[in-house]
Amino acid sequence: MDKSDGTRLCETRAFTGDISKENHTVSNNAGFAGACDCHVHIVGPSGRFPQLATRSYTAEIAPLDLLRGLAEPQGITRWVAVQPSFYGMDNSCLLETLRTLGPNGRGVAAVDVEAVTSALLNGYAERGICGLRINLYSKSLGKPSRPLGDLLEMVSEKLPAAGWHVEIIAALPKIVSAAATILKSKVPIVIDHYGLPDHAKSASRAGQCLLDLLAAPHVWMKLSAPYRVVGDPLATSPPNKWLCAFLQASPDRCVWGSDWPHTPVDNEQKGADQSAPYRMIDYGRLLRDFLVAIGDPALAERVLRENPNRLYGFGANEPNGKGCGV
Ligand SMILES: [Zn+2]
Repeated sequence: MDKSDGTRLCETRAFTGDISKENHTVSNNAGFAGACDCHVHIVGPSGRFPQLATRSYTAEIAPLDLLRGLAEPQGITRWVAVQPSFYGMDNSCLLETLRTLGPNGRGVAAVDVEAVTSALLNGYAERGICGLRINLYSKSLGKPSRPLGDLLEMVSEKLPAAGWHVEIIAALPKIVSAAATILKSKVPIVIDHYGLPDHAKSASRAGQCLLDLLAAPHVWMKLSAPYRVVGDPLATSPPNKWLCAFLQASPDRCVWGSDWPHTPVDNEQKGADQSAPYRMIDYGRLLRDFLVAIGDPALAERVLRENPNRLYGFGANEPNGKGCGV
């Protein structure tokens, strides 16, 4: 299916929430054996995996098998599953996902920082989790208990071992407010979704602050979910100025993620007792648009394979694999 068909497909099927395979094209991403989608969410049956009472919608099932069916034909064979907001601190669906993925999966969990024990986190490490997530973005989690910088210090102290990192999802002003703490962090920091700059430009003061953070050797960026960055809630093309700025600032610390299954837009979130449709985003088109925007195959291979290898410890036996940690 060519790009114009893909465009029509997405426009006409907007907000149907149909994530079935027939609505996705193939990007012909040949040549990236071992490519990694560094940001996905897996949603299980609500009977087995209850969702938070405070959730702003009920998330529909989004099984790993379906994702693999979409991603593997594109050359994606590794995944980083990230704890979604509606599971709160219950990581059981994430752990089941990692059990199925085995060596091809890593996980980023959410925990109660004040109560978590090192025994629990060491157990998580054995099961493929290598990061903890701070979420200051999702409505269902309510108002954060502390400023981002304080949360970051608390979470960092709990990380059990080398090779773990802290992942932050927060709007750019919050990231900027924690810049000093991020800069002096002794553990790797991974920032979600281009830093969620909203309308801020890369040349703005906040934008420059974010780029300065990216220049630090322990700060990483997920080039993911363009529809959370630009005005179009179904956008599949990266925000080009930000993309170029991040790749210039740190080509060795940018990774790509789909954000599958693309959680619903705000105005579809109508309360805990109602399910809301996922955004109808064509997985192949999302990847293809990213590769087109990057242009340089060698750079794309760094972002899709080599950088995830280093950050998440995939492919330690490959020529460019360095094992866990940075
Ligand atoms: Zn997400």
